[in-house]
Amino acid sequence: MDRFADFLRRQIDIDLELLRWVREDAEAGSERGCYVSVIRGFRECELKTRLLRAHQWCGSGAGPCDQVGDAFPPEDERGCATRALLGLPYADRPGYAKRWRP
Ligand SMILES: [Zn+2]
Repeated sequence: MDRFADFLRRQIDIDLELLRWVREDAEAGSERGCYVSVIRGFRECELKTRLLRAHQWCGSGAGPCDQVGDAFPPEDERGCATRALLGLPYADRPGYAKRWRP
């Protein structure tokens, strides 16, 4: 399960870094990027981080989805449907395993 969570955290970190570059370019006036899109991007990263944190123990027996019987079996490293869906935007990135598709 850790490999999938590590992959998700790494992708969110990459998104945050890309957003910081765009914001810095926009603030320096060298780029006419859409600042609203940058702000939305940061908010989406925060959302993904909070969801991942809330579901970090799903599939281990101690997560909220375990409590209601919706967690995936322990051998499924995605943990639960919420975590699996969090990975979907990154399905085209290197390191994403086909078996992780929701
Ligand atoms: Zn869950």
